[in-house]
Amino acid sequence: MPLITILIPCYNEEQSLPALYEALCTICNPLQEVSSSNICEGITPPHQDSYSFEFLFINDGSIDDTLSIIKTLRTQDERVCYVDLSRNFGKENAMLAGFDFAKGDAVIIMDADLQHPPTLIPEMLRIWNNGEVQDVYARRKTRGHEPWLRKQFSLLFYRILDHATRFNVLQNVGDFRLLDKQAIYALRRLRETERYTKGMYCWIGFRKQEIEFEQQDRIAGNSKWNFISLLNLAIEGIISFTTAPLRLATYLGMLTALGAFVYGLYYFIKALFVGDPVAGFPTLIIVILLLGGIQLITIGIIGEYLGRIFNEVKHRPVYLAQEYNGERQYSIQDK
Ligand code: UDP
Ligand code: MG
Repeated sequence: MPLITILIPCYNEEQSLPALYEALCTICNPLQEVSSSNICEGITPPHQDSYSFEFLFINDGSIDDTLSIIKTLRTQDERVCYVDLSRNFGKENAMLAGFDFAKGDAVIIMDADLQHPPTLIPEMLRIWNNGEVQDVYARRKTRGHEPWLRKQFSLLFYRILDHATRFNVLQNVGDFRLLDKQAIYALRRLRETERYTKGMYCWIGFRKQEIEFEQQDRIAGNSKWNFISLLNLAIEGIISFTTAPLRLATYLGMLTALGAFVYGLYYFIKALFVGDPVAGFPTLIIVILLLGGIQLITIGIIGEYLGRIFNEVKHRPVYLAQEYNGERQYSIQDK
């Protein structure tokens, strides 16, 4: 019977967890019962529809009662497993912890706030069961309520990424997906500190299939993202997946140099044939400011990459787990 891990990163989710657990039980319990189609004279049926489950919660350094709620759930239900990180490492890192500790033949990643409807789980499993695809991802049909500017930025971001990378970056697709063990093993090998997991799913390749869903509103608490953190994630996405901005800096430099040359030539010829009355203070200021601006942007871009190199060469573990199902953890970086 295939084991399915439901991977849920949690950061201060005490309000959502009980409802999430309820919803998971409602969906998963019927899937655990061995259906009659499975019992047929010792021959494994091509279409299995009974599974065992592991609900793997990653407590990402919550400062509320999230951990104790998970522990209580574990005393009642042995399917509940948990990893307790030593502090808040962020969702991207928490997910890597999940990939490392997941035991399932397939892993379904979900948010704790029920924005990802568990009702999609049977459909994902059905598609995975055919054995054709290693990644069943859910695409949001609508983006929900969102300020206009934020939406435009998001569209721009995807357009840039799409043009700048060699693989397809999927729009309106998040972490809600089912990944086969094969994809999980691939993801475990990507251990960079600066993580942009949404890009990694595309980078690792494998056969994918799409299903659609209506994104729900958060059932409780607040989203941990604001405009600035989303902007940061977007920069992270672009910088960690392509070196195109560096190329852009080169082009900008060449363009300004060419402009300056043409401009210089124009004044040289003008001085030769027309004479040159002293003027042009504003032009001078504008050129100095323009050049200064371009130089600063370029240094900024180089700095972004340099900063990442700095973080990667330290080879720090991406997260530190202090507890797994009540057991103390000591060394996880060799996992
Ligand atoms: N999360 C996490 N660590 C963090 C921030 C968020 O594990 O530092 C989890 C959070 O508990 C939730 C999921 O990541 O299960 C998505 O977070 P959120 O709902 O805040 O993001 P949004 O849905 O707005 O993208
Ligand atoms: Mg959410």
